[in-house]
Amino acid sequence: MSEIYNFSAGPAMLPVPVMEQAREELLDWHSTGMSVMEMSHRSKEYLSVATQAEADLRGLLEIPDNYHVLFLQGGATSQFAMVPHNLLRGKTGADYINTGAWSKKAIKEARRYCDVNVAADSDDTNYSTIPDRAEWHLDDNAAYVHYTPNETIGGVEFHSIPDTGDVPLVADMSSTLLSRPLDVARYGVIYAGAQKNIGPAGLTVVIVRDDLVGETLDFTPTMFDYKAHADNGSMLNTPPTFAWYLAGLVFKWIADQGGLVAMAEINRRKSRRLYDAIDASAFYASPVDAACRSWMNVPFILANDGLDGDFLAQAKSAGLLNLKGHRSVGGMRASIYNAMPEKGVDALISFMAEFERTHG
Ligand SMILES: *Cc1c(COP(=O)(O)O)cnc(C)c1O
Repeated sequence: MSEIYNFSAGPAMLPVPVMEQAREELLDWHSTGMSVMEMSHRSKEYLSVATQAEADLRGLLEIPDNYHVLFLQGGATSQFAMVPHNLLRGKTGADYINTGAWSKKAIKEARRYCDVNVAADSDDTNYSTIPDRAEWHLDDNAAYVHYTPNETIGGVEFHSIPDTGDVPLVADMSSTLLSRPLDVARYGVIYAGAQKNIGPAGLTVVIVRDDLVGETLDFTPTMFDYKAHADNGSMLNTPPTFAWYLAGLVFKWIADQGGLVAMAEINRRKSRRLYDAIDASAFYASPVDAACRSWMNVPFILANDGLDGDFLAQAKSAGLLNLKGHRSVGGMRASIYNAMPEKGVDALISFMAEFERTHG
């Protein structure tokens, strides 16, 4: 079988060594005679898996001690609600930056709980840019500022952390967490659904500063209370045990690659090669402003969209899967998270050149 590269935006590829280790341990974890899937989450065996994963994530991101790391369920979409439930803390409004599809969903959900001030919006460029920090109209009374550092669908990414002074900064990092080093201390809350860059679907990682937990709305469900999860080591109820274990294997794999500094170098290189190939051709184009192109999700269009179907069919035959752009934007999108090897990106670039030669 020739190599298959899966460019899906999520659930996405996982590193092959992680999958091999999971296969190896599937029926009998460390001679316990049990699969991790079959263990009590309260057992000392499982607790060792869970604690090690948290320690490894803390190590990778150098998470300060005054932050809780939570392993939850409900996806990033639940965080769209959990953030206002926990962070309003007596205030009535929050600032949101709208840079595309995922920002919009976060805004729509937050409006159920508070006054949302859209402090900046890149609607006027069809979400192909990031609004300059100098142009943001932040509200002095906002409980927090929410933004989406990487828009998975539109392919725009912030390449620096915006300054919000003393107002807690909240980030939906679903499609960029662990792609590079991160100064966690700049944030109040960071959250990410696992299925892009962390592990399988079903797990959501939340990193929250400890002074921001403990005050919820009157009607906040216990399951939506960060403090309830923090006080219980993310075991308020049965956590997604197998997904948490697999995420732990991914954290070890990242450390084996040289940690986040090495991951960043690889990711920068992969994305640059692909953007360079797109920019060098008159056949392909990137719809995103060069200053804010994502390292993780690379949308591109064919000059003749009548060829989209042929492109996708031939790519599939060449083992390059899931390149179809999101239904809301069309065109193509190559998601190249940590687990996508450099040779996968090279295979895509060669395929694109060959397709251009035969169809250009
Ligand atoms: C995928 C994604 C989501 C949705 O995640 P779920 O885990 O499916 O709720 C939210 N935000 C961003 C930036 C995403 O990439």
